[in-house]
Amino acid sequence: MADIIQLLPDHVANQIAAGEVIQRPASVVKELLENSIDAGANQIKLIIKDGGKTLIHVIDNGAGMSGTDARLSFERHATSKIKSAKDLFQINTKGFRGEALASIAAISHVELKTKQEKDEVGNSLIIEGSKVISQNVVVTPIGTSISVKNLFYNIPARRNFLKSDQVEIRHIIDEFHRVALAHPKISFSMFQNGSEVFSLSESNYRQRVVNIFGTKMNEKLVPVEETTEVIQISGFVCKPEYSKKTRGEQFFFVNDRFIKSPYLNHAVISAFEGLIKEGRFPSYFLKLTVNPKSIDINIHPTKTEIKFDDEHTLYAILRSSIKHSLGQFNIAPVLDFEHDSNLETPYNYKDKNVTSPNLEVDKSFNPFKSDFKGSTITGRDKKESSQNWESLYVGLESKANNNEPDFSGVQFESDEITPDMFKDGKDLHQTTTTYQLHHKYIVSTIKSGMLILDQHRAHQRILYEDFLKNLTMKEATSQQLLFPLVLNYSNSEMEFIKQLKEQLESTGFVFSKIGADMIEIKGVPISINESEVSIIIDQIIADFQNEVPENSFSQTDLLAKSMAKSLAIKTGQHLSTLEQEHLVNSLFACKEPSVTPNNKPIFIIMSVDELDRKFM
Ligand code: ADP
Ligand code: MG
Repeated sequence: MADIIQLLPDHVANQIAAGEVIQRPASVVKELLENSIDAGANQIKLIIKDGGKTLIHVIDNGAGMSGTDARLSFERHATSKIKSAKDLFQINTKGFRGEALASIAAISHVELKTKQEKDEVGNSLIIEGSKVISQNVVVTPIGTSISVKNLFYNIPARRNFLKSDQVEIRHIIDEFHRVALAHPKISFSMFQNGSEVFSLSESNYRQRVVNIFGTKMNEKLVPVEETTEVIQISGFVCKPEYSKKTRGEQFFFVNDRFIKSPYLNHAVISAFEGLIKEGRFPSYFLKLTVNPKSIDINIHPTKTEIKFDDEHTLYAILRSSIKHSLGQFNIAPVLDFEHDSNLETPYNYKDKNVTSPNLEVDKSFNPFKSDFKGSTITGRDKKESSQNWESLYVGLESKANNNEPDFSGVQFESDEITPDMFKDGKDLHQTTTTYQLHHKYIVSTIKSGMLILDQHRAHQRILYEDFLKNLTMKEATSQQLLFPLVLNYSNSEMEFIKQLKEQLESTGFVFSKIGADMIEIKGVPISINESEVSIIIDQIIADFQNEVPENSFSQTDLLAKSMAKSLAIKTGQHLSTLEQEHLVNSLFACKEPSVTPNNKPIFIIMSVDELDRKFM
């Protein structure tokens, strides 16, 4: 048989390598920013168009390249950073594999302009799909400018795999944060579709953290400092009471390189033991400096995972130094941070003079009262109670007609769900008995036995359908605030708010100002208490950070879910008989009364038969 093995042409090998190194626009951003840092730049500008799909442009004032180097830099395994294998264990630069530029050039249209200080003129180079289109002498400032256009233009499968611009920009901002946090001495700016997203001037580490995550962050930080023979630790953890619902703000840098380490993360978490509730995450920004000889960075192409020689020792040192810092800053264990939001003013009120507003406040305001005309349980509430009672089976009726009841998770023994399951044949009013059990469940009698519903889940469903309706019909009403409410957010949080502005407005929010790191709200949805606003917006941001919606439908859906979750009456809340009845009625007026927006069962039914059997 003839020989069949052949060496792959370079451009094919480069495309294959690109598959590993460049997963999405954010990977290009990371590689380019790191190259600029390695080139000694102290000013780096990042310009993005359309989530990086159309353009990623990085401009630095670093060392620049000679004409020959400019050409060579796009070859695979071409690097100025290491010369031999032994250098691999003494790495002080971000890059060293020499494959980023070759990979990027294989799958996009690249334009490079670069000039060294000693040279009169610079060089420009245009490469498309690994092919050099032109190389010229140009006038250009000292440093390097690389623009990457039409990423994955020649690999449609990869291009189609890219997510929406919003999702891609999210990833880009994450990479930008990581690089900018690792290098506070370098000034960074970032522009997206022509507008400035970040402008970070040279600063110390604390200022950099605050500049990225917003001024609110300053008071949350607890410094952590430790120097031992094997490791130097510096940076911050956030006070336990500021733990978050997402892991968003957790950063480890090892020798100025962002890394992911579940093991070291565990060390931090364990230092917070007893200080934060389960399901919440501490934020941290920790810089570890170790001897480069004691780590192996070359275990993953993207270099975000590294191997330490002595992980166990690092774990112990990290844990104890964080514990020590938390202790020093007098952070006493508090097990439950759930507090009554009505007791605090989470915004700038404390700076205002106290005046008593001349406004009539309806103290008896209660969304469950039948005369309440808010957007919570509107319309349905106005019915007479006998009509209300009928509405109990409205939702069920349509189900029964569909002949496909979908009460996932609810156990029915022999009960058929029929429209008249609630009718007892007797006077309706006598049958409308509800009872609140442990401030958690509402128990109600129905024809075939008993219905038990979870009050928090039921209300979540009701609010969810209401918000969804408001969001799609844009018919929400809002209440004017006495004083506009000013809330501060970090840049990336502001990104979410700007994205969601229109939808928030259709739920009833009225924004009077949207700045770079603050919003001013002058109206809120009628169902929202003023003191809840910041909690709700935080929840929305957290939910959107956890689950980036792919399209506008899922965005609307997530927003409705998020608001319903934070506004629904909680377990533990006492409800009057009237409120209980309204809850039941409104639930069964919903399109889908059986499950929460997250598909958890809302009620169960226990038949008389079942009860009888238990008494046998
Ligand atoms: P690596 O960073 O692993 O060396 P790259 O493919 O990212 O590999 O870059 C190849 C080489 O191109 C680098 O080693 C460096 O010499 C040069 N280079 C890349 N970007 C820049 C830049 N912004 N400024 C100066 N030189 C650069
Ligand atoms: Mg590189």
